Amino acid sequence: MADYIYTLETRLSPDQQKAVTLVVDAARAAGMNVYLTGGAVRDIITGFPIRDLDFTVQGNALKLQKDLERSGAVIGDADDETRTLLLTLPGSVRAEIAMARSEQYEKTGKPPQITPATIIEDLRRRDFTVNAMALSLNEGSRGLLMDPFNGAADIEAKLIRVLHNYAFLEDPSRMIRATRFSTRFHWPLEERTQARYDSGKENGYIEYIRSGSIGYEIEQLAYEDDALGVLKAYEKEGWLKVLNGHWTTAKVDVAGLGALMKTRQQMIEMGYAPDVAAAVLYFLTARLGDKDISDLRRAIPRKDLVEAWKDVEDNAHTLAKRLMSKEAATPSRTWQLLSAARPEMVLFLAVTARQQTVTHKIKNFFTKWRQVQQKIPLPEMTELRITPQMPEYAKIANDVFLLLLDGKLRSRTETLKYLKPLAPPPPPPPPAVGKRGRAAKAGAGPPAQAAAAGKGKGKGTDQAATAVAVAAAAAKSRAAVTPSAAAKPVPAAKPEPVAKPAPVAKPAPVAKPAPAPKAAVKPSKPEKARSKKTAGKKPAHKKEAKKRPAAKKATKAAKKKKKGKK
Ligand code: ATP
Ligand code: MG
Repeated sequence: MADYIYTLETRLSPDQQKAVTLVVDAARAAGMNVYLTGGAVRDIITGFPIRDLDFTVQGNALKLQKDLERSGAVIGDADDETRTLLLTLPGSVRAEIAMARSEQYEKTGKPPQITPATIIEDLRRRDFTVNAMALSLNEGSRGLLMDPFNGAADIEAKLIRVLHNYAFLEDPSRMIRATRFSTRFHWPLEERTQARYDSGKENGYIEYIRSGSIGYEIEQLAYEDDALGVLKAYEKEGWLKVLNGHWTTAKVDVAGLGALMKTRQQMIEMGYAPDVAAAVLYFLTARLGDKDISDLRRAIPRKDLVEAWKDVEDNAHTLAKRLMSKEAATPSRTWQLLSAARPEMVLFLAVTARQQTVTHKIKNFFTKWRQVQQKIPLPEMTELRITPQMPEYAKIANDVFLLLLDGKLRSRTETLKYLKPLAPPPPPPPPAVGKRGRAAKAGAGPPAQAAAAGKGKGKGTDQAATAVAVAAAAAKSRAAVTPSAAAKPVPAAKPEPVAKPAPVAKPAPVAKPAPAPKAAVKPSKPEKARSKKTAGKKPAHKKEAKKRPAAKKATKAAKKKKKGKK
């Protein structure tokens, strides 16, 4: 059980983990049990990339909509019949939240009777054993795997197996799904499943496919890493014409799709995570007629995907125009423009742009300009106390990067000359007396700084990356980009290293104990004795605070005495 909690935490991306927390919190607030199901569980176990998160709740999933929208979810579709939400959670995490249900098929081709059910009953209506597992996300049983059909064994054996003999008859779209999973994972159908599949094909079960399932499968195709491979398999099996009568592999812009996936991979290596589904559909249907395209769009349940597909060309066109305008007259302005644009838009333009200026600028954005970050003199910046702890650090780092990009700072000397006036004043010197306790520690400040600065020299590259990360992040935040774009920093944008030099710039302890030495300078005799006894027990400033009222009392008493004498 513990293993699955660990696997869950290590296999999901940070955004997916946040998405899980959001859904779990919403379900808990609504008093519903919630489980991770379907492909997410399968892929957690197999180690394949987790494309989307499928949740199942015991209760009406539609009731979670408002709560999730408040947390930043975008609802792509809400199906009243199955009480399922298709949504995109912050960080572009695609998810589906369905009500646990049982399905009774009474007549071939007719939709099943749907009844709310328990999670175990819900697993019985699933397509394949490897997809019929659930992982509890509930308090008390978190991480518990429910696997009534021994899907884990089929994962081990790398087999696609239906749950029962009527699987394809009840829902012929499962034949299309079988082809898709088999192509994606390179897993064969289990022997009896293959026999049922062949017989389903021969007997034309596919004629009974429901229109909703067609739309769902078109959509799923858009998220395949090897969409062309799946499309070819569909064509071979006779499923492609089911999705659309005129769709063939000849309608695909193979070169465009290939370039898209190649550039996407390069962007992933740079730390971006562009959502390519809309662009994939664009290339898969490049040579299809307008009517067929609008039929396909109408069938797709996720409306946000349809909108993105419709807009993909126009958005790229607008970005291209901006890249050719004055707005992108200098490298720094181009950098800012491209950093603020949605990564999927940059990607699509990178593979479709025909203007040389545009392709050249995007190429520089991906390659040459990134190398300029190495020129940011980080060790010297640390020595100048320009560290991430400064509130203005992001801006300074960004400005230096942009000036370097434009060639306005041409050498290290010039850069340092620019930076020097921006350095914060040095921290106050350590107190003269008080080489004990805190004061002694404070004295250790400067060497620590120097050591850290030395360290910085060794890690120049990482720190440079960090500075550009900050720069990029600052540029992004200024440009008020969409949350999804903002969530995709350049690889340099990993915030952790920014925090690392922290010990360098912690002058606070040096300044804080200032009141303490006062006590140490002229302690009264009894005070001296007491401080010896209690040394190390209380912070100096507290002792000082305690001391003052006592001193006041003493002077008051002395004054009274004097008055009395008079
Ligand atoms: P991936 O998302 O990686 O393509 P997946 O298995 O999660 O794979 P989805 O289409 O996201 O596929 O569906 C989620 C789950 O819903 C499936 O794992 C399966 O359990 C169930 N499911 C989807 N379609 C069907 C179907 N036609 N019949 C039965 N169960 C289905
Ligand atoms: Mg899924």
